[in-house]
Amino acid sequence: MSYSIALNFEDGVTRFISCNESETVVDAAYRQGISIPMDCREGACATCKCRVESGDYGLGEYIEDALSQDEADTGYALACQMRPSSDCVVFIPTGSEACGTKQQSYVTRIKDVRQLSDSTFALELQSDALSALAFLPGQYANLQVPGEASHHRAYSFSSMTARGDTVTFLIRNVPGGLMSGFLSERAAPGGELVMNGPFGSFYLRSMARPVLMLAGGTGLAPFLAMLDKIVAAGGSAHPIHLIYGVNTDRDVVEIERLEAFTRAIPDFTFEVCVVDTNSCYPKKGYVTHHLEPAHLYDGDVDIYLCGPPPMVEAVAQHLRENSIDAASFHFEKFAPSIS
Ligand SMILES: Cc1cc2nc3c(=O)[nH]c(=O)nc-3n(C[C@H](O)[C@H](O)[C@H](O)COP(=O)(O)OP(=O)(O)OC[C@H]3O[C@@H](n4cnc5c(N)ncnc54)[C@H](O)[C@@H]3O)c2cc1C
Repeated sequence: MSYSIALNFEDGVTRFISCNESETVVDAAYRQGISIPMDCREGACATCKCRVESGDYGLGEYIEDALSQDEADTGYALACQMRPSSDCVVFIPTGSEACGTKQQSYVTRIKDVRQLSDSTFALELQSDALSALAFLPGQYANLQVPGEASHHRAYSFSSMTARGDTVTFLIRNVPGGLMSGFLSERAAPGGELVMNGPFGSFYLRSMARPVLMLAGGTGLAPFLAMLDKIVAAGGSAHPIHLIYGVNTDRDVVEIERLEAFTRAIPDFTFEVCVVDTNSCYPKKGYVTHHLEPAHLYDGDVDIYLCGPPPMVEAVAQHLRENSIDAASFHFEKFAPSIS
């Protein structure tokens, strides 16, 4: 029996290793060429202290000076002693390069590029190497803008990896944008595109309670990957509700896919709300206008929020001002690139 361990490094890089039954995380990582810094390997120096973000594990043996009871209770562990008993996600508070690893780079080919609407592209990339790519649903990759070697753009995967050797993205058409210009004018099947990743801490955690997903525009992408994952896991023991907010009807995409999720995940529901008052959708206005107590379970809910910065900030402020204190709150801002 072996488990898949996602090591999330301080610089945002994620690497996956397999960890055998009763193997420690440090040993498994080392076997796969990743040296997690440590001094003693005996649970005494605390150099390899890490934070376990999801999964089950044994803490092993260590001294209280290296790991206090409070730390152990709040998910900290010593990687030299920790033995996973399920797949885990582990935050390593060190840069990936210091551990002898780095972000992975893939030279891919465009398999398909389609304009789903005036405002949105669907991009599918293919490479044999991608069949070995693993990422957490919700994470993103950096795509180099072809012909602009020093410019890259971040895009969240919009599907699970398990689609053979391809990955997909949902991309907003930003007028005058570098990547948007490439996709609308020059991108064609067979064209080369370099992808680096995976990155990011916005991903679906173990589901222990109801989940509320709030998407703005192409902020829907990571939720499609998460829902793919939930289907692959055989469904959810807890209700999941998605509120998908857009500006106009032409921004609404992937409705068939969302409807298919409602059939595949019995406890999944979604609603679309559109800012444009002339919309043909019954729910008008912003996502915050449609947050009902029924979605919030008196705070016993995990909230995931993703979209453009103004939308993310408005929703976060609304939650704060209305004292909506969720059991957990995760967000991703689709901030514009600075280069
Ligand atoms: C972690 C992360 C994940 C992301 N995932 C996605 C994703 O899955 N799908 C997606 O569509 N985008 C995503 N983005 C945003 C994406 O990286 C680009 O910023 C966006 O696609 C614009 O790129 P561009 O090259 O077309 O435009 P740029 O050349 O970067 O921008 C052109 C001009 O438009 C402005 N601009 C850029 N974005 C916007 C905007 N949203 N609204 C208004 N003005 C804007 C810029 O400031 C600039 O002035 C993500 C961003 C981050 C940080």
